[in-house]
Amino acid sequence: MQIPFTKSYSTGQEIKNIESAMKLGKLSGDGDYTKKCEQFLEDRYSVERVLLTTSCTDALELAALLCDLSPGDEVIVPSFTFVSSALAFVLRGAKIVFCDSKTDHPNMDEDLIESLITSKTKIIVPVHYGGVACNMKKIMEIAKKHNLFVVEDAAQAIESSFNGKQLGTIGDLGTFSFHDTKNISAGEGGALLINNKKFVKRAEILREKGTNRKAFFNGSIDKYGWVDVGSSFLPSELCSAFLYAQLQAIDSIQERRHNVWNYYDLNLNEHSAYKKPLKSKLGNAHLYYLLFKDKNTRNFYLKNLRDAGIGASFHFLPLEKSEYIQKNYLEVEIQNCKLSHSFSEQILRLPLYTGMNSDEIDYVISRIHEISK
Ligand SMILES: *Cc1c(COP(=O)(O)O)cnc(C)c1O
Repeated sequence: MQIPFTKSYSTGQEIKNIESAMKLGKLSGDGDYTKKCEQFLEDRYSVERVLLTTSCTDALELAALLCDLSPGDEVIVPSFTFVSSALAFVLRGAKIVFCDSKTDHPNMDEDLIESLITSKTKIIVPVHYGGVACNMKKIMEIAKKHNLFVVEDAAQAIESSFNGKQLGTIGDLGTFSFHDTKNISAGEGGALLINNKKFVKRAEILREKGTNRKAFFNGSIDKYGWVDVGSSFLPSELCSAFLYAQLQAIDSIQERRHNVWNYYDLNLNEHSAYKKPLKSKLGNAHLYYLLFKDKNTRNFYLKNLRDAGIGASFHFLPLEKSEYIQKNYLEVEIQNCKLSHSFSEQILRLPLYTGMNSDEIDYVISRIHEISK
């Protein structure tokens, strides 16, 4: 049996939406389906304004532009995250200051943040790993005290909340990813969630190549032109049409993923080699990982699972250990994030996708029990 790590899922409605977008005869961005998706997300999560983008990376770049960084400004980013959480700010000339993980979870340790703040700090970027919430109350308090922006990288966190509020809707700005690997997908896609009203007008301009095209089409100005910096961040209607079908099915998609997560949880035995995730760390059933006692044991399971045709996977490498940071930063500028390093060595993610059936999960579980004998 071959079990991929992830596999795209479609409800059947995607192709119908794409056909109907084609019939409307306009496939460039900001058309009917783009607006429908934005409206859906604004209503469901009570966000001031949502702008679809071509990826979460683009949404983060748009957020970095909105925060008006100057070269040398500092941005606090977890060590244990995807490149884009840092890269968007690096493009604006910012220096990244890496925050280590908590002892019991890869998320950034909120208690370390204040020790990383200097007079140059501008932004804190919490990343909700696996859709498990960072302590947003603490982070917002720190940001307020030091007058910093908060940009939540909620790429993995759709349908996950902190104190009843959807993740990505608590900081000044937040971002979602609709990449093929995420719970809700458009193949490639993303969204910027704007919670701080003062960013709305400018965000619409920056997304439209620095032009006031949006205001022109709304009829609020009589000609449109180049007024600011920006880029082309708008997805095509084909992507938005696909995405809208997924958003409409969000409850059933989430139910299926939770079923897979719970099936793993019920049927995997406890073992001295690894720990199962706590139920309290379930998040939005974005991923299911085992935490091994050390790197060698993790790699032993990884190899055996892969030999059995199972696409198990490790996850992030600490960003401060990357070739880019090692080449471009002075040694004294690089934080040593030990816990992030351990998570990087000890995490093993199991296949989890929306359409995964019980035979497939059973196969993964039986292999793990076999290796554990
Ligand atoms: C997937 C992911 C991204 C990038 O999303 P894209 O839509 O592929 O650009 C950024 N941050 C985190 C934490 C992610 O998991």
